[in-house]
Amino acid sequence: MRIVVAGAAGFIGSHLCDRLLDEGHTVAALDNFLTGSAANLKHLEGNPRFRFFEQDITRPFPVDGAVDAVAHLASPASPKDYLEHPIETLEVGSVGTRNLLELALHKGARFLLTSTSECYGDPDVHPQVETYWGHVNPVGPRSCYDESKRFAEALTMAYHRKHGLRTNIARIFNTYGPRMKLDDGRVVPAFLDQALRGAPMTVFGTGAQTRSFCYVSDLVDGLYRLMQSDERYPVNLGNPAELTILQFAERIRCHTGSHSEIVFEVLPEDDPKRRCPDISKAHRVLGWQPRVSLDEGLAPTVEYFRSLAATAA
Ligand code: NAD
Ligand code: UDP
Repeated sequence: MRIVVAGAAGFIGSHLCDRLLDEGHTVAALDNFLTGSAANLKHLEGNPRFRFFEQDITRPFPVDGAVDAVAHLASPASPKDYLEHPIETLEVGSVGTRNLLELALHKGARFLLTSTSECYGDPDVHPQVETYWGHVNPVGPRSCYDESKRFAEALTMAYHRKHGLRTNIARIFNTYGPRMKLDDGRVVPAFLDQALRGAPMTVFGTGAQTRSFCYVSDLVDGLYRLMQSDERYPVNLGNPAELTILQFAERIRCHTGSHSEIVFEVLPEDDPKRRCPDISKAHRVLGWQPRVSLDEGLAPTVEYFRSLAATAA
């Protein structure tokens, strides 16, 4: 198959490109480097089944030749990035999604949207199940991301209902691994960077809020299975092993052998208090469940961040 991957120079997009190429597919990769990096794709230079096009998907763009599938991963994804680029975030979820849906429609291709657990906002149902409609502040600081993704989901369903497009929607929960951006403010790079430098680790609020972290190879496996399925409604993809942010800080300290102190800073507005996916649907529909434990996934991630620090030194 020939697959268009939008957001290919990002953290998850670059790993999805690797998986698609490993499976024997051809990839046409699009990215405008808003939050991604050419370094994430450098190892694919010279691969005859891989081509990169620098492209903002909110602007009109042609894609020559046959296309069998379109995977939409383009969007700022960390709170720091989308707070810095709120309008671009809304635009890529709306205009960008529409452009990619039109591309899929005209090429007779299938379409995958990467949505997010942020669709559930600060949830009052726990763990979060796909049938829960969410608790989102539509005018809060995170709304540029949450509403952009909720709109993208609605648009995707509209193309499916109106045009019969073969669509899939993944609701991705916190994912981590090599190629995360060091300074994107997300808790995994932030804590690893701080721990490896011996700097204070900044826990926001009391650290009692929870998250659950999925290793990137597991997540990409879920996306790959979903791309081939007939499931049109959203499917949660994430690791249900839930822990508090304070416990997570301690795990990182232990993994890095760091003596960093833990300091407490103000909790950002609308920061979800609890987050954990119910993945029974992914298991039932895709036969998917994560295989990599937090300890197993942190090992290569710590190595990656160590190598970044060594290159910078
Ligand atoms: P990322 O920031 O590393 O990657 C996103 C990529 O999209 C970047 O390379 C960026 O340059 C590109 N992009 C942004 N706007 C664009 C535009 N207008 N045109 C072309 N390219 C554009 O983020 P990520 O963590 O790899 O996330 C990938 C997708 O998965 C996103 O859609 C995100 O919302 C979703 N997601 C990620 C997580 C997570 O934990 N990483 C959780 C939930 C959802
Ligand atoms: N967080 C933290 N310290 C940091 C960065 C994040 O305590 O330096 C917390 C943040 O408040 C949130 C959790 O870690 O409760 C996950 O934050 P992240 O930005 O990774 O993603 P989110 O799940 O909020 O989208």
